[in-house]
Amino acid sequence: MATNPNTAPRHIQVHSSVQISPHMQRIYFRSDKFADFPLDEAGAHIKLFFPEQRSAMPLLPYRNELGKIVWPEGKRPVTRTYTIRDFIADEQLLVVDFVRHADFGTAANWAVHAQKGDVIGLAGPGGPARFNPEADYFIFIGDLSALPMIAASLEQLRADAQGEAWIEIEQASDQQPLSAPQGVQIHWISADQAFEDAAAGSFKNLDWSSSISVTLAGENTRVVALRKILRQQYSISKANLYAVPYWKRGHSEETYHDERHSVMDDEG
Ligand SMILES: Cc1cc2nc3c(=O)[nH]c(=O)nc-3n(C[C@H](O)[C@H](O)[C@H](O)COP(=O)(O)OP(=O)(O)OC[C@H]3O[C@@H](n4cnc5c(N)ncnc54)[C@H](O)[C@@H]3O)c2cc1C
Repeated sequence: MATNPNTAPRHIQVHSSVQISPHMQRIYFRSDKFADFPLDEAGAHIKLFFPEQRSAMPLLPYRNELGKIVWPEGKRPVTRTYTIRDFIADEQLLVVDFVRHADFGTAANWAVHAQKGDVIGLAGPGGPARFNPEADYFIFIGDLSALPMIAASLEQLRADAQGEAWIEIEQASDQQPLSAPQGVQIHWISADQAFEDAAAGSFKNLDWSSSISVTLAGENTRVVALRKILRQQYSISKANLYAVPYWKRGHSEETYHDERHSVMDDEG
């Protein structure tokens, strides 16, 4: 799961858009600059840049002589982090799944109304490994925003992998067909059920003297609470834990971005 943080920023264009479940919009992007796009980065994160007006060409950053990202005239557009759900090499199509969340932020709103030909900017992929491939057992926990990452990660597990995935969905029809090894159990939990208790309850039945890789992503409060349990009760090692809050209730990415990094740096 090597990452390519230096891949050049580029424009990408909507090829097609499909609502795959009540709360998920799948967008297929094309680019005339996909020739060097990495083929093995499904599940990695990308940065998307949105223009002020849908019809405008979004600004792209460039790297200065020190390799630092710089925005022309200091103008940074609305930027959001998403996940590569897939890259279909034969057709040169990048697949990104956007949660259609009720609060309709810039990105969700853009995705719901995306039309063939709409252009946004892309940087990446990048980010840390989402799971430890050497582990004896794998746990994935997340909400709809983490589902693209979890779905892609499940497809990358070795065929004899054992584990479980706990996915919080808004309603039963948000379930998606997932491709996972037979030894990995998938639990779909609707928002009205006690998701945190169910996921944390599963920890009690495991042998923590073996190597257990835990992948935890989604809303901030949930990630912080479950991470605390994993660290304090199960002394999980850093190598076996990916715990990244993807969004925070009541906060847009602009107001949450810096806090996410301090949450991730917190050792508690
Ligand atoms: C590494 C990483 C990978 C990610 N991958 C994906 C992905 O593949 N697909 C995806 O959909 N999201 C993904 N996210 C989450 C996404 O970046 C945030 O949800 C982002 O805030 C959406 O931007 P927005 O403009 O729609 O909403 P914002 O303008 O940021 O927020 C507007 C309002 O909507 C609320 N909100 C934001 N996201 C959600 C949500 N998911 N559900 C309910 N309410 C929400 C906020 O609390 C706020 O009140 C990822 C985040 C990270 C850090």
